[in-house]
Amino acid sequence: MQPERNGQDSQGDGAAGCALGGEVLLRVYLQSHEAVLISDADNRIVGINPAFTRMTGYSLAEALGRQPKMLASGQTPAAKYREMWLALKTQGCWQGEIWDRRKDGSVFPKWASISVIRNGLGVVVNYVATFTDISEHKEAADRLAHLAYHDPLTQLPNRLAFESQLDLALKGGGREGRQIALMLIDLDRFKNINDTLGHHVGDGLLKEVAVRLRESVRASDIVARLGGDEFIVVLPDIDGPLVAANVAGKVQRNLADSYRVGEHVLYATPSIGISIYPSDGGDSDVLLRNADAAMYHAKSAGRNNFQFYAASMNEAASARLQMENALRQAVSSITPEASQFSLHFQPQVDAASGRVIGLEALARWLHPTLGQVPPIDFITIAEETGLIQPLGDWIFWETCRQIRVFRQLGLLDVRVAINISAQQLRHESLPFVVLGALACYDLSVSDIELEITESTAMQNPERTRAILNALADRGIALSIDDFGTGYSSLAYLKHLPIRRLKLDRSFVKDIETDGNDAAICSATIALGHNLGLEVVAEGVETPAQRDFLARLGCDVLQGYLYSKPLPAAEIIAYLQAELALNG
Ligand code: C2E
Ligand code: MG
Ligand code: MG
Repeated sequence: MQPERNGQDSQGDGAAGCALGGEVLLRVYLQSHEAVLISDADNRIVGINPAFTRMTGYSLAEALGRQPKMLASGQTPAAKYREMWLALKTQGCWQGEIWDRRKDGSVFPKWASISVIRNGLGVVVNYVATFTDISEHKEAADRLAHLAYHDPLTQLPNRLAFESQLDLALKGGGREGRQIALMLIDLDRFKNINDTLGHHVGDGLLKEVAVRLRESVRASDIVARLGGDEFIVVLPDIDGPLVAANVAGKVQRNLADSYRVGEHVLYATPSIGISIYPSDGGDSDVLLRNADAAMYHAKSAGRNNFQFYAASMNEAASARLQMENALRQAVSSITPEASQFSLHFQPQVDAASGRVIGLEALARWLHPTLGQVPPIDFITIAEETGLIQPLGDWIFWETCRQIRVFRQLGLLDVRVAINISAQQLRHESLPFVVLGALACYDLSVSDIELEITESTAMQNPERTRAILNALADRGIALSIDDFGTGYSSLAYLKHLPIRRLKLDRSFVKDIETDGNDAAICSATIALGHNLGLEVVAEGVETPAQRDFLARLGCDVLQGYLYSKPLPAAEIIAYLQAELALNG
């Protein structure tokens, strides 16, 4: 089939048109790598070249007389065809991308150039179309776009993609009056895993986190990785913050399960900060900044939780400054006669005999205007500001003074546990403060015990071990407080000179109803005993908890069931009554 040479096409007086005869054009047509299709005025196919057959699988005989729409795949929008016909009618030519179907059923994108051939009277006689298969181009372009918009490790959208998707969601949200939640998710202590087990293990964990995040939300929600161990989830259409809280809870639970990476079993709980459009910000910058502030709030609230951004967080910052100043004032005005601080004592009871074998000293701060400030608050501030150093010294000396009073009253067998914070432990002078205070009140090392939280013990392992050894060498008993809340390595714990593990009260709380907590208690007690340690349970509030722990072989019990922490005078009365009862 030969293309006709007439109409507009042959009217041009260009050199090619004049010099090339029909023979040459036919050869070009037959040998062209581009597929060519020629149809008549009714758009019935009157000619195709061999390249067309190669591209579509249809032979000349199969194509003749049919319409080009025999190739339609159904994937090109109808509007595209309308645009094409309009252009052919008004301009005589059209170019564009069309998705076609080959004879074997496969669908492919092609680039089409179509022109209209008219006779001398301007009547349409033919349509001539040339096609190029652009699947490979498209794949390459898609791959490039994927690379630019995706994180290569997790295959999640990256920051760039997230920003444009969020902008799109915000535009939609603004129009329809919807609320949008932005959740910034940071893994707790991920750096620890990277530093101790290596980047490939960290990478493996991040991949799994990405999968769990994707599974925790709907397909229409956005999940992206911002970098490092920071992920983001956008819920683009929610009724209110409660929905975001539910999803955050689900994310938290799903991420908190253990991970298996190679031969390692790992834990990576999330801290989640949430901001809500439009109440917490109108654009992506502000929303992200506020989610970030909320995330830090979650970290400082003890990690593994979620927090909403609220303007009240700024108020919290100024309240904290006020408390810091008050604490500074209170610490600097301690005198032997007067102090805003005092000590309370809580009994520790031998599980087998029910007798009081020790006390824990707990600091209290009563401020003239702030009132009773919880130790969690002021100890944290004291640690962050360095005030724990002088305050810790005072707690130490005051405890020793009280023990001397107990002894004078004939209360001989109770050892008193003193909480030591990370800052104090890092100070080389600690063993001297301890021995100095003991000597001053004529006490021996067996009168006291030091409690170090699990997370403190895990900081700076080499240094910590050296200081703990120095204390233990002098005969001072050490226990690990809040055990189970940190990220301990057993191998490390085995090398610390400790005598006791204090099982954190969060596990004791639901011991009867939560199988996980019961299992953790039972495993910790067995583990402690295997390492030759005594196990103390904190927060024992009910007889059922007591019996349960005793059955598991827990050595010592402490909690409101026996007594709340009491001021010195009251604990003396408590101990004297106990002495009278048990002899
Ligand atoms: P901790 O050392 O784990 O102390 C035990 C906490 O559990 C105390 O809270 C105690 O009152 C509370 N508790 C005891 N039995 C029960 C119970 O049956 N149920 C419940 N719900 N709670 C119980 P407190 O006195 O508020 O102290 C909180 C934390 O503040 C302490 O936890 C300790 O980490 C820190 N802290 C307190 N005093 C000092 C101190 O003198 N020095 C240092 N460095 N930290 C201290
Ligand atoms: Mg303690
Ligand atoms: Mg504790």
